[in-house]
Amino acid sequence: MPGKFVLIGSGLAGGLLAAYLGRRGYEVELYERRGDPREGNIVGGRSINLALSTRGIHALEQIGIADEVLRHAIPMRGRMIHDRSGNLHFSPYDRDPNKFINSIGRAALNTTVIEAAQRYPNANVHFNHRCVDVDLEQAVAHLATASDVEAAVPAGPQREIISARGDCVIGVDGAFSAVRQSMQKEMTGFEYDERYLAHGYKELTIPPAPDGSWRMEKNALHIWPRKSFMMIALPNPDGSFTCTLFWEFEGPRSFASTKTDDEIRHFFEEEFPDAVPLMPSLLDDFKTNPTGSLATIRCAPWFYKDKVTLLGDAAHAVVPFYGQGMNAAFEDCVVLDECLAEFPQDRQRAFAQYFERRKENTDALADLAVQNFIEMRDKTASPAFRAKKKLDHMLEGVLPGTYLPLYAMVTFTRLPYSTAAKRARFQDRIVFGSLIGAGSLLLIAVLLALLH
Ligand SMILES: Cc1cc2nc3c(=O)[nH]c(=O)nc-3n(C[C@H](O)[C@H](O)[C@H](O)COP(=O)(O)OP(=O)(O)OC[C@H]3O[C@@H](n4cnc5c(N)ncnc54)[C@H](O)[C@@H]3O)c2cc1C
Repeated sequence: MPGKFVLIGSGLAGGLLAAYLGRRGYEVELYERRGDPREGNIVGGRSINLALSTRGIHALEQIGIADEVLRHAIPMRGRMIHDRSGNLHFSPYDRDPNKFINSIGRAALNTTVIEAAQRYPNANVHFNHRCVDVDLEQAVAHLATASDVEAAVPAGPQREIISARGDCVIGVDGAFSAVRQSMQKEMTGFEYDERYLAHGYKELTIPPAPDGSWRMEKNALHIWPRKSFMMIALPNPDGSFTCTLFWEFEGPRSFASTKTDDEIRHFFEEEFPDAVPLMPSLLDDFKTNPTGSLATIRCAPWFYKDKVTLLGDAAHAVVPFYGQGMNAAFEDCVVLDECLAEFPQDRQRAFAQYFERRKENTDALADLAVQNFIEMRDKTASPAFRAKKKLDHMLEGVLPGTYLPLYAMVTFTRLPYSTAAKRARFQDRIVFGSLIGAGSLLLIAVLLALLH
């Protein structure tokens, strides 16, 4: 069934979805509130680089652009843990050294997916168009087109509003989706839940060494776990690292209480002494770069009749601690494409199936992502964590195909997230049950030996 899709938002998932729909022969009009990223419009306010893994790579492969993306990626083979004394511990992500995650630049990836969409003559991208409202029943998006599209000012001489009508509208417009807001306003019974962490995040930089090389191990995701907060760093192709500090917004030691040069310097020297000499622009970066918030957003349903649906962060924003938000958004594209192919004559059924297949899984991912913050900021520092990882890898080796660590299932397979979470709980019960069982047997043996 030919049809016209109006897409709102050409971030990571919007560009890719436009390519998928373009390939199916649909007419696609993609509207993005920002300017063209190829003209130097930086994707502001979000992480500069991201971890791309199996699910995301699969989605890119389906559209034939995985190699192009991975050419610019830096493999990260494990976690490099930095303790307070500057000692390092490396913990590989998998027992198989060929399983790793990839650090990629958001801006380059965004450009690649947009260009993939533009290869289809039936897909058009319009920048500097900000969706202000969607008429769900008519599948019409209202868009502000003037240069001040970021400003939520009423229509007037500086701000023209145009209408884009399709057979349906897809909101791929991120965590603060305008399309979702229209659904909230118009749909009775629309469920919406947003939860913010008490932590915010700030990006900082470790520049390349004078010879252009990386100042720390390049093929690792660096973590400075400090119990209630942490800093991480991902490598960039130009020899730099992008560090992200995840820290409490409020409290005696927090973003709110750390403002002056002395306070900033003192905090970093106390907590991250090995990183400070590598961060010459620390004070400037800390004071200038924005502090972002971290939210989990859940809503239901993700569709209205055959007229509107949501995809990516617009449907399910998760906190970034499993490195899966974008990977999950890319996986959405694959599933929505499959559903449209399965029900070519019934778009409402396709949307309903897509929602049913994804909702349980993105809910499971949301929980896993919050839990992994505790693992990253606290547990990775402990020898017990490293021992558990070694046990995981050992069990994976002796029980191939039977035992798979949770991290591996989420990151290196395309098992549905909810299946991975359930299977990990089951495995933990068996393993810890056996360990407790083995411990009890040992205790009985010791007692018997003492009695003799
Ligand atoms: C600090 C941090 C680190 C992260 N690290 C990772 C990681 O390592 N791995 C991973 O998989 N994920 C990661 N994520 C998550 C990832 O960034 C998101 O899941 C991903 O960007 C979602 O893609 P999207 O296309 O749905 O939304 P976005 O990428 O946010 O794109 C939405 C687009 O819509 C546009 N838009 C918004 N409103 C409107 C409007 N009204 N009209 C028109 N256009 C509009 C925006 O300008 C934007 O271009 C991280 C997130 C954060 C915050």
